[in-house]
Amino acid sequence: MFRFIDTHAHLSKLPRGTVGALFDADIGGIIDVGTNATDLSDRIAAFRALDRVRFSAGIWPSTEAIAEPMEQMRLLEQHITAAPPELLVAIGECGLDHHHNTEDANLAGERELLELHLHVAQRLNLPIIIHTREAADETRSILAQYPAVHGVIHCFSYDVSAARAFLNLGYYISFAGNLTYKSAQGLREALCFIPDDRLLLETDSPFLAPVPFRGKDATPAMIVETYKLAAELRNSSVEDLADTIRANSAALFGFRL
Ligand SMILES: [Zn+2]
Repeated sequence: MFRFIDTHAHLSKLPRGTVGALFDADIGGIIDVGTNATDLSDRIAAFRALDRVRFSAGIWPSTEAIAEPMEQMRLLEQHITAAPPELLVAIGECGLDHHHNTEDANLAGERELLELHLHVAQRLNLPIIIHTREAADETRSILAQYPAVHGVIHCFSYDVSAARAFLNLGYYISFAGNLTYKSAQGLREALCFIPDDRLLLETDSPFLAPVPFRGKDATPAMIVETYKLAAELRNSSVEDLADTIRANSAALFGFRL
């Protein structure tokens, strides 16, 4: 039996009652990722009974969130303080989204919110989960100012040269189900470039369902398809790749399964 790790899912966005059954499949562990300042307590309450789920706390750079970074971070920190430390394995997701936030958005607020997360990650000595879209250079230059912080570039959406830049900063690179999409040749090239000890895989459920489920809501069980394709592209067996990702997840998140 393979034990697939899904390093990034949003379990509270899946239909209620479907999550426990995931562990009857070959799912070895899931990191349930936060996107807003007040969701952590509810997510922990909903899923903590599943002993192979761990949690992150972070704020996605929505228009509302980047309008008031300090206030948002104050709220998030209250939730972090209240959470059982053994269940909280990362800060994020947080970052820059210049597909969503264009020139007239509060880009200074977006940057400030990311930097506040980096401070918290540094202080708590937790890895950070970075969301970055159409903002590779800006993201890299901010992360470079926090060399003590390590983490993952989640749902990687750039090319080989951006992958190299993030690897040089010490970051892991994580690929989601869009790796399997026909148009994603650049992502598949980037996947082959990542060294074994820096690679992670995720679903970003309920988004980005891999082929052949594209268009449906993704569940962590679908990650099997992403592992299969990634193994084929990297000339690896699925078993070996599953071992690699499990070891990398443990190394980054301290999440041993
Ligand atoms: Zn996400």
